[in-house]
Amino acid sequence: MKKISLLGATGSIGIQTLDVIAAHPEEFKLVAMSFGSNYKSGSEIIKKFKPQFVAVKDKETYDHLKQELSGESVKIGYGQEALIEAAVFDGVEILVNAVVGSVGLIPTLKAIENKITIALANKETLVTAGHLVTEHAKKYNVDILPVDSEHSAIFQCLQGENVKSIERLIVTASGGSFRDKKREELVDVTVEQALNHPNWSMGAKITIDSATMMNKGLEVIEAHWLFNMPYEKIDVLLHKESIIHSLVEFHDRSIIAQLGSPDMRVPIQYALTYPERLSLPEVKGLELWEVGKLHFEKADFNRFRCLQFAFDSGKIGGTMPTVLNAANEEAVAAFLKGSIKFLQIEEFIERAMDKHVCIAQPGLEQIQEVDQRTRKFVQTLIS
Ligand code: NAD
Ligand code: MG
Repeated sequence: MKKISLLGATGSIGIQTLDVIAAHPEEFKLVAMSFGSNYKSGSEIIKKFKPQFVAVKDKETYDHLKQELSGESVKIGYGQEALIEAAVFDGVEILVNAVVGSVGLIPTLKAIENKITIALANKETLVTAGHLVTEHAKKYNVDILPVDSEHSAIFQCLQGENVKSIERLIVTASGGSFRDKKREELVDVTVEQALNHPNWSMGAKITIDSATMMNKGLEVIEAHWLFNMPYEKIDVLLHKESIIHSLVEFHDRSIIAQLGSPDMRVPIQYALTYPERLSLPEVKGLELWEVGKLHFEKADFNRFRCLQFAFDSGKIGGTMPTVLNAANEEAVAAFLKGSIKFLQIEEFIERAMDKHVCIAQPGLEQIQEVDQRTRKFVQTLIS
């Protein structure tokens, strides 16, 4: 029985992780969890899965949740300290980090220090401080297992292979909600249109990131850190069906791909069962004759400028990816609130990056300071 802590339990990845846990009650036990402020959904999860500890974002949610759960014996906390407590709760063997944003960084570092295996969905953590997280994982000899479908695909393609034989990683991209629109047509797109992703049902932030293609940019940086791969050896391939989840090319020109129906429960479960595999009967099997055709296109870096910014920031390194990520988080939140237009997301990221004087090899405090400063700068642009 593997004891699991799940951060972001009420979210898209969180709910699907709970599906996987519920499908294998003899394999997994949820012992701790966290969520932001959706206490109605949170209390239902708590009653069903009976974790011993729950962390919520703030005091207000804490008060509501206490009321909802009067009579239950679960311990509850709130704020950053509680989030860390949930991550490293007594006996936890796997931390599924499925919060959204760089708030996931410290809990991940603390869990690594406690020798807890990380199943990582929270890509912002690797973007904002990839060198710290990977150095930490090495130092404490802890596995970081990818949950993101592209990285799970690459990880699966690499089983039994020598990483020294890799020619390049090919990360596939659906293209998001606006994949068929020209750049001029993006000027007045609405939040509702942006949230309408053709292949995947996901949280709001990542759905907007998919529409700007920043999601793919973040994933390129995530792949750089997870697989220790230079940016010159990472390619992005547009593939609108989301059937091939990514590919690896080797020196002998052989390419291995991982395929399947677009269903996040597959990579989530693989991270939880690795190196074993368990059945997943609820997921639709893939019949390629039903799909018929698969399409591929070259990624257009002028059309999707965020993708270019991500490669640029990754190659510059240091605190530049921290700026990219923080500016993106603030701009996307503002777009979702209706305060800025779609193309202003990339405009504000570019301005934040232009203004930043990069610090090489930053420590945790410098990263946190740059993160906060960037957020303030973007907020001034917004207002
Ligand atoms: P979501 O918005 O659906 O869920 C986010 C979860 O985090 C919620 O439970 C929310 O309550 C919690 N949360 C938010 N802010 C918090 C805070 N300050 N403190 C504590 N909890 C907080 O997001 P999602 O789509 O599930 O994505 C989660 C992460 O996984 C993101 O990093 C995303 O990029 C990544 N990811 C998601 C998918 C997907 O299919 N949804 C696929 C690959 C990667
Ligand atoms: Mg992905």
